[in-house]
Amino acid sequence: MSILHWLYFLFGLVCGSFLNVCIYRIPRRESIVSPGSHCPACGSRIRPWDNIPLLSYIFLRGRCRACGSPISPRYPAVELITGLAFLACAKQWAFTPPTFVNSLFLALIIVLVFVDFEHQILPDVVTLPGAMAGILLSPFQAEAVYRDFLTTGVTAALPWELSPPVHWTGAIVGALIGGGILFIFGWAYERIRRRAGLGMGDVKMMSMVGAFLGWRLALMTIFAGSLAGSVLGLFLVLFKGKTLQHKLAFGTFLGAGAAAMLFLGLPFLGWYTAPR
Ligand SMILES: [Zn+2]
Repeated sequence: MSILHWLYFLFGLVCGSFLNVCIYRIPRRESIVSPGSHCPACGSRIRPWDNIPLLSYIFLRGRCRACGSPISPRYPAVELITGLAFLACAKQWAFTPPTFVNSLFLALIIVLVFVDFEHQILPDVVTLPGAMAGILLSPFQAEAVYRDFLTTGVTAALPWELSPPVHWTGAIVGALIGGGILFIFGWAYERIRRRAGLGMGDVKMMSMVGAFLGWRLALMTIFAGSLAGSVLGLFLVLFKGKTLQHKLAFGTFLGAGAAAMLFLGLPFLGWYTAPR
């Protein structure tokens, strides 16, 4: 851990503080720039020294200084998760351009995961500009993310210095396949079960994932997200007495799957396809 890594971790904490604002305000259709931070219970302004990521929550013992009402533990959790996500990107791509592209990707995923968990929506104002950003930034993404591992059997991600820039086609194909496959699943489910199973928000979210990660990791994200959702769903049915109709926020699982595939997908594909 160099000083640069620590600074980037702190930068992640500060960004996480902004993501908290997005997570609270976007589903309520409020502006994310003004007014400044205020307590959702009493409306009093939060002073800068009470708005330091992680530390303020600890010093205030999780309560508003003005009215004493509890502050959701989501705030420090999102800050810490964002800091760790940024740090993981810095470790993986050593401050080369993919560090910053994938930090942005994970920031978008964090907003979607928490908004979907609380409100069961995946806002277009996040997914659509997110998909566009994934396509536009693809020349700065690690080529290894798009590489054809199934035919080359390459097992380790190429360092950025050795990999040529990716062209936009990889990202566009990823967006079309990532969103398209989920759209077809949803359509088939509706025809068979005669009720809506997937929202268009999930489809747009997977377009964003495909734009950033390419089509292979997008497919693996859908697989991992579905598997995790099924396991938890089964657990709720067996141990918590929920019915099978109980609605889980699929976007939350897709987001967790996408973050896992960003770091683990290529090593897994390499292991899976390696000759034995
Ligand atoms: Zn308050």
